[in-house]
Amino acid sequence: MAEVGITNVRIAEFAWSLMEPREGTFDFQWLKRAVDVLHRHGIAVILGTPSAAPPPWLSAKYPEILLVNENGVTLTPGTRRFTCPTNPTYRRLANAVATEMAKAFSSVPGIVGWQIDNELTLGSASRCYCRFCREGFQQWLKAKYGSLEALNREWGTAFWSNVYTDFSQVPVPLPSGAPPNPGFALDYDRYQSAANVSFMKEQLKLLRQLCPSHFVTTNNVGGFIDTVDMRDLYRDLDFVASDNYPGVFEVFASGDPNFSITPEASGAMVSFAHDFMRSVKDGKPFLIMEEQSGKAGQPTFSAQPEPGQLRLWSYQAIAHGAMGINYFRWDSARSGAEEYWHGMLNHDRTKSPGFDEIQQTIRELKSLGEKALNASYTSELALLYDYNSDWALAIQPGQPKLKYVSEIMTWYGCMAASHAGIDVVDGKQDLSAYKVLCAPLMYIVAPEQARRIRAFVEAGGVFITGIRVGVKDEASRIVETALPGLLSEVMGVEVIDYQPLYSAKQGVQFAGVLAGPNAECSLWADILNPGNGTEVLATYTVDHAGKAAITSHSLGKGKAIYIGSHLEPATLGRVLVTLLAANGIRQSVSVPSGVEMTVRHDRSQRWTYLLNHTSKAVDVPLKNTYRDLLSSKSVSSSVRLEPYGVKVLADS
Ligand SMILES: [Zn+2]
Repeated sequence: MAEVGITNVRIAEFAWSLMEPREGTFDFQWLKRAVDVLHRHGIAVILGTPSAAPPPWLSAKYPEILLVNENGVTLTPGTRRFTCPTNPTYRRLANAVATEMAKAFSSVPGIVGWQIDNELTLGSASRCYCRFCREGFQQWLKAKYGSLEALNREWGTAFWSNVYTDFSQVPVPLPSGAPPNPGFALDYDRYQSAANVSFMKEQLKLLRQLCPSHFVTTNNVGGFIDTVDMRDLYRDLDFVASDNYPGVFEVFASGDPNFSITPEASGAMVSFAHDFMRSVKDGKPFLIMEEQSGKAGQPTFSAQPEPGQLRLWSYQAIAHGAMGINYFRWDSARSGAEEYWHGMLNHDRTKSPGFDEIQQTIRELKSLGEKALNASYTSELALLYDYNSDWALAIQPGQPKLKYVSEIMTWYGCMAASHAGIDVVDGKQDLSAYKVLCAPLMYIVAPEQARRIRAFVEAGGVFITGIRVGVKDEASRIVETALPGLLSEVMGVEVIDYQPLYSAKQGVQFAGVLAGPNAECSLWADILNPGNGTEVLATYTVDHAGKAAITSHSLGKGKAIYIGSHLEPATLGRVLVTLLAANGIRQSVSVPSGVEMTVRHDRSQRWTYLLNHTSKAVDVPLKNTYRDLLSSKSVSSSVRLEPYGVKVLADS
């Protein structure tokens, strides 16, 4: 490990049964020996607290800790992540083992930090519906609403005779005779997120007390698993830690005949995950706690990464703001559910196919140096992702094929073609750093978001949104004014009708800056009535023919653009790239398709990353002369990227 250049490892995150073989009996000697061996070889250690995998004695003695899933089924123990985040016994025992662990390792040389639990967002359900969570939910509601009158009013419980007369009557959204009250179901999603954050914070508190010199974080996959609000989760942690398995997307996609994933599409999904995780702590460099090191999976394998891909994926993380990479894993396990998850060593402890490539990557990243790895990442373009809209639309999609995360991903893929860099914001922060803010499916608009967006536009920003914007308030009630509700004045339009589309076709004809071939509109159409001075950039051609489909409204120094029709991805891409270019977001280099470009910088230096996600060599034209930091050669006019190749260029 030391010879390969590895400088730190994360260990012990699932080792509860070895640390506490019987309740209250702790054994850390084996772990201390491992830490000591690593330390003597110059390898620092991040310790994982083991709460994601309670031992059999615990679940046998305290079966009430088991998670009840959304169908009311109590999970069976014997795997991982089968626990209720609220249950006081589980919390007490998770805190006890973490406390003993922290005491045992607080002054052990070589320990640098902690990972609390492991992937809190993952699991068969990710949300628990047990009796402890129900009681916890009722307490949370009392604190939120103060009175039953307020709760009944906000949820509109008079409908279907749901008026509650005691908090103890409030259920959890398990299967019933019909879909749940939307406000109730949304509050339950918020409560489950808060329960997971609160579970994590109990361990954070004890680690801060017992190990004040160590950093503390927790690891999650970014963006796609959306059950816990990541901004809440990481608020008091030192930095974000992310797990990155690009090859696994193909495995998930293989079960869907309508979904083919090209390396380019996969590249955009991975970039979204990195941008999402970087943005959780407003741009602070993040750590890849687990990076794919070979074939990966539990019951199935992902494809063997092509030569160059492991290196490319590592650089992709760095290019989007990571400060370091830990590979998962060193050894491949010969037993247990993750036998198929290949490490840097094969099962027979020979070098894996990716071993030399990872070693090369480690050597190169060290040569780039700390300044490059801790450099800033700033962008002029932002994508608004909000858990309220995500969770509320999952409860009531309107059209069953409308999916928030899919829509976010589609918009991200279109925006990424500008190579301008994309931050992922929730609209509750200062937006003045951005030129353009895109907000697809912003179903719920909070008053603070409406204020921030208005100020952003008035100050010169361009706000681009789409169908179903401003439909609901934070209680998940439909707004009482014309749509788009709180954003009506900013958008300069009124939605005069909205149409869920199934077999009926709707068409769109473009005008002005968007002039181009007619397009199909699927799934949804908002029919817009532009106010005075609002420019029409597209109209419908079938139903409501001639009525506005896309509008642009000038307000103050900026603009608000409403894309009221759900366009096919290729058309949406053309529309968004055109709008971005027309509003100051242009790529500084003409980057070929399948190649990604990002820039990190500090006060005096810029690092330009070029990433080839394709299996073919490509030449990227350059406008300036650069120094190729990995070859120390000067490059100008163009640079060649090998298949899955990477270049890191410094301004010269
Ligand atoms: Zn529970």
